[in-house]
Amino acid sequence: MTLLEDLRGFVVDGNEESRNALAGKIANRLVLDKAFPKTTFMELVLTEDCNLRCSYCFVKDKNPRRMSWNVAKTAVDFLITESGRTENVHILFFGGEPLLELDLIKRVIEYANGEAPHREKKFSYSMTTNGTLLTEETCRYLRDSSVKYLVSVDGTAETHDRHRKTRGGGPSFHLIEKNFRHMKRFQPWQGTRYTIHPDSVGALMTNVRVLHDMGVNQFIIGPAMAPDVPWPKEAMETFAEQLDNLVDYYVKMQQEKRHFRLGMLELGSLPSLEEARTQSEDALLQRCRTQHEGEWGCGAGRGRLAVNTRGELYGCSRLLTANGLARDGLGRLGSLQDGFDVHARAKLIGKRESARTTCLACSLRDACTGGCPAVNFQFTGDMYRPSLLDCEFTRLYLEVQEKAQRLLVRQAAEKEEPREKVCSPV
Ligand code: SF4
Ligand code: SF4
Repeated sequence: MTLLEDLRGFVVDGNEESRNALAGKIANRLVLDKAFPKTTFMELVLTEDCNLRCSYCFVKDKNPRRMSWNVAKTAVDFLITESGRTENVHILFFGGEPLLELDLIKRVIEYANGEAPHREKKFSYSMTTNGTLLTEETCRYLRDSSVKYLVSVDGTAETHDRHRKTRGGGPSFHLIEKNFRHMKRFQPWQGTRYTIHPDSVGALMTNVRVLHDMGVNQFIIGPAMAPDVPWPKEAMETFAEQLDNLVDYYVKMQQEKRHFRLGMLELGSLPSLEEARTQSEDALLQRCRTQHEGEWGCGAGRGRLAVNTRGELYGCSRLLTANGLARDGLGRLGSLQDGFDVHARAKLIGKRESARTTCLACSLRDACTGGCPAVNFQFTGDMYRPSLLDCEFTRLYLEVQEKAQRLLVRQAAEKEEPREKVCSPV
């Protein structure tokens, strides 16, 4: 029930039960308004099903459960309420495979856009999809509705098909490839989420070049992270070499003014052209090394929220699906029906920096926010204790960020022409 419905119940009935419900909601609202950031980013987990069966997927127990219209509509209303006076709000369609629920996506967008003007909101939308269901008609609809999408592609067919298989165990690259022409036509900035597996990490640079030539121009690259995916020393060394080459390629593409974005660099602390011209390399490197000074954790449960098919609230979809986390209720932050559980939310985001015992002695602590809480939980059983493997990846990313920074600063100093503005990927 909403606060308004409780108030109505109290005025009409005036009984003790409705009075208590109202008092509880008001107390909860006062705490929420004072103690927590507004929620402006909502992931809607539309379905727990998928037409693929990728070996490393963190949604382990696929099933036909899907979100009802009632839950979806309530979630939109919840986002409107919980974003307070913030005008710009975002909905990310997620799954399973969200395009299995295209009709629901359309209904959500129609409803949210209809509510937007009189609730003083501006909605934007995005989606993470496996790309196999992106028909021409769907791509046109997504373009017309301003839904930006990121397609999961793990390299060329040879590497992609090792782990991204259909329900029947067959390859899936060709199912995306056949859609590529209209994907590119309707969304020229074509982004991919590229998951690297240790068994094919040596092909990373080659695959990025091939995909770039095909028209993919935004890359969010990250390793397959699960306790059952070992990253031996040799694979880590190969990954480091590949990333080193990737930075050179990135800088070259910037020089040639070709469209090529790399999330692990651009979401870091790359300098603007003005900064590159006016600040010393040392000062900019220092900024990179202190980019998260005093920060702890991520957006999950702060400005970000995920809603599952049953209308339960989680910090993000990964927290929702991390093995055991949802089952134990650890990352559950309440429900659409009952609102936020303030204690659970405080527990997720309220840790102080001093609680980062593993991080206290780490030289990277001012450049790192303590690891993804969901990954931490999967590896160490504790959302606040990072896994050493994840720390190794963090160290690598910071090294490539610093290298890119050095190269770009020198490039800006040598050339008077402006470098193209760096934008966040989809
Ligand atoms: S690299 Fe690991 S130990 Fe160091 S600050 Fe980050 S999470 Fe903590
Ligand atoms: S860092 Fe991890 S827990 Fe935080 S939003 Fe990202 S996936 Fe979720």
